[in-house]
Amino acid sequence: MRAPTPGFTTRFAPAPTGALHLGHAVNALWVWGLARRFGGRVVLRIEDHDRGRCRPAYEQGILDDLDWLGLVPDGLTTDEFPAGPVPQRQSDNTVRYETRLAELDTRGLVYPCTCSRAEIARATEAHEGLELTYLGTCRGRSKDPERVDHEQVGLRVLMTGDAPERFDDLRLGPQSHDPMTQCGDLLVRDRLGQWTYQFAVTVDDWEQGIDLVIRGEDLLASTGRQLRLARLLGRTTPPAFLHHPLIRHPDGRKLSKSSQDTGLAELRAAGWTPTRLFGLAAQLSGLQAEPTPRPIAALADLFA
Ligand SMILES: [Zn+2]
Repeated sequence: MRAPTPGFTTRFAPAPTGALHLGHAVNALWVWGLARRFGGRVVLRIEDHDRGRCRPAYEQGILDDLDWLGLVPDGLTTDEFPAGPVPQRQSDNTVRYETRLAELDTRGLVYPCTCSRAEIARATEAHEGLELTYLGTCRGRSKDPERVDHEQVGLRVLMTGDAPERFDDLRLGPQSHDPMTQCGDLLVRDRLGQWTYQFAVTVDDWEQGIDLVIRGEDLLASTGRQLRLARLLGRTTPPAFLHHPLIRHPDGRKLSKSSQDTGLAELRAAGWTPTRLFGLAAQLSGLQAEPTPRPIAALADLFA
């Protein structure tokens, strides 16, 4: 693994659509451990762009869990967010997203799309387990003011580029992604008028000065499209990426919000301490051989 550039700004960015579980603790270990080791800063971002699935109780649960773990986020240091609120919330950033979208639109990069997910699936030869590639069915469609209504029409951004997106993941090494063959033109606002994850995080990462993204390998495939979108938005210095290993449930399943027995609140109720939890998370991440309890002050030592 290559060391990050010291003094970076990264983020811990849970969605309040469920409770934190062991997988989040692993991500937090990498985020705070690397930040404390290399003099970085951690922005806490509540990714509540999906208003239909977010619940205030989940956000409170996330804050309670972080409090219990002893993980304290740092504030923002950018000019626009001189003493930005902690945490950042995507639901507070609507105007910023509107502004960025308008800039893309001015340059002719945005078009309306009325395709449903089922229609896109029919139009592609998507195989089970692979993501759907949007083939540009609605490209060239004009913005009929009668139809371009937030309630009915999605908006996509043209993702064409001259070459694949190449980046050097700090842990996984050189990568090459071609967004056009992976996903096609990105949906940035859906037919319900909601900002999509890819658009919201790309804008957030830029505006909040995030220059190192630390996240699980399950999100590796979306890196190229985020880099391309960032460039189209005008970000000239893209963030660096580090994708850490994903851990699995002891029975082999992927960890998820439905893995009740690995929820942090459940572990806490069962008598686990943060020190014991970080010890297990470090072992599952391959950062130490045994689940030796690890105090929060010793997380940085894992990245010596
Ligand atoms: Zn379409």
